[in-house]
Amino acid sequence: MTAYELIVVGGGPAGMAAALGAWDAGARRVLLLEQAGRLGGVLPQCVHTGFGLYEYGEELTGPEYAARQAARLKRTGVEVRTNAAVLELGAGGRVTVLSGTEGLMTLTARAVVLAAGARERPAGALPITGTRPAGVFTAGQAQQLLNLGGYDIGRRAVILGSGDIGMIVARRLALEGRPPVAVVEQAPRCGGLARNRVQCLEEFGIPLLLSSTVTRLSGKARLEGVWVRREDGRADFLPCDALITSVGLLPEDELLLPFRGAELPGWLFPCGNARRIYDLVDRAAADAARLGREIARWLRGGPPPRREAAEDSAPAAPGPGAGELICLCCPAGCLLSAGPEGGVTGAGCEKGEAFYRQEQVERRRWLTLVVTVQGVRVPLRTTRPIPRALFGPVARAARRAALFLPLGAGQIVVADPGDWGCDLAVQCDCPG
Ligand SMILES: Cc1cc2nc3c(=O)[nH]c(=O)nc-3n(C[C@H](O)[C@H](O)[C@H](O)COP(=O)(O)OP(=O)(O)OC[C@H]3O[C@@H](n4cnc5c(N)ncnc54)[C@H](O)[C@@H]3O)c2cc1C
Ligand code: SF4
Repeated sequence: MTAYELIVVGGGPAGMAAALGAWDAGARRVLLLEQAGRLGGVLPQCVHTGFGLYEYGEELTGPEYAARQAARLKRTGVEVRTNAAVLELGAGGRVTVLSGTEGLMTLTARAVVLAAGARERPAGALPITGTRPAGVFTAGQAQQLLNLGGYDIGRRAVILGSGDIGMIVARRLALEGRPPVAVVEQAPRCGGLARNRVQCLEEFGIPLLLSSTVTRLSGKARLEGVWVRREDGRADFLPCDALITSVGLLPEDELLLPFRGAELPGWLFPCGNARRIYDLVDRAAADAARLGREIARWLRGGPPPRREAAEDSAPAAPGPGAGELICLCCPAGCLLSAGPEGGVTGAGCEKGEAFYRQEQVERRRWLTLVVTVQGVRVPLRTTRPIPRALFGPVARAARRAALFLPLGAGQIVVADPGDWGCDLAVQCDCPG
């Protein structure tokens, strides 16, 4: 048995932040266990921007955010083991691990942080009748197949659920030249952030069907369409070859099963999505880092760590009225409009006014995409937001470019593809 001060289960953003927080506050003999072959959790498949706005003040993509955290971790003495799945947590901080290189191990720790993330609610959990053809995916699966696998998951998808993940997948499909038929939402309002509704659906002309739900699948080998029940009871048939469900995440807390029905033991601390579902990685990481720091102090005789997490504060903003627009610069989604004497009202910070003025002249957005280089999927991004009209030409230039591995994070691979003064850069290291 090997003894540690702290073992962190899960190397996603929350697990990495907890280990970093604990190390920075003085904990030593800290071990991070990750079942996958790399750190980052769900972030490597999230090639869109929208991460790190609060923590780094930048619009990072998922792979970029994960790489920053992993680099910080490397500068500490935290021991990291990948390909190491935790099978069981037992009395007194006993951790049973199956390692791809070392086999079955039993470790002990004075404190254990569970940062195992979340799993998606599957389509089978929904009251949908009909056949069970191929072509039904959860949003996370669809994102993984598209972005990391480069698979063709369908040409005409219907998305069920208007949370942020569903809308982000809708935009991804639109950028691949296959805009979804519709996003179907059972509630009377959009489930995700206003900024995602605007930049993922409205700007691509993807219909959002509110107060509606999918009740039936149709198709034999492959999905041929879905029946959608509308608010007035009417049922419409939407022909499609893929149904992507985005109907909620559930904390991955199976390792807590032995402790169900009783108070969690004093050495065990769930965090990140394993504790409750976060919509922003920055908040998951901030809570986890705080927990890590408090555990380190507690291990040295300080007060016990607080177990509660901060609530997400990003409000679901109402839709813009005439003359108004939603600021897309951060998740707050302020409603902006022209104020007296040429000013702008509604902005929560100075960025809002600049955004409003830019929108009057021209809409500019970040473009992210994935290309295949010698069989490896390489995520790219523009080095600044570009006019929406340039999305098509820039994406075509990226797909035509002759690229070769290895490619490094931040490397410019296509210089000024739109003749506009903006380059295309690689999001993460892609070794040969
Ligand atoms: C599709 C999608 C899009 C998103 N878009 C955004 C966005 O634009 N902006 C934003 O801020 N946030 C976004 N988020 C939210 C953000 O990604 C999450 O808040 C964050 O990933 C939660 O971090 P986590 O570490 O708790 O979980 P995860 O990232 O899921 O990491 C959990 C890790 O634990 C590992 N693990 C699980 N069980 C074990 C075990 N038994 N043993 C060892 N390891 C284990 C897993 O392999 C995984 O690596 C998005 C989330 C998703 C799913
Ligand atoms: S104006 Fe509002 S939405 Fe825009 S960056 Fe400032 S706080 Fe965020």
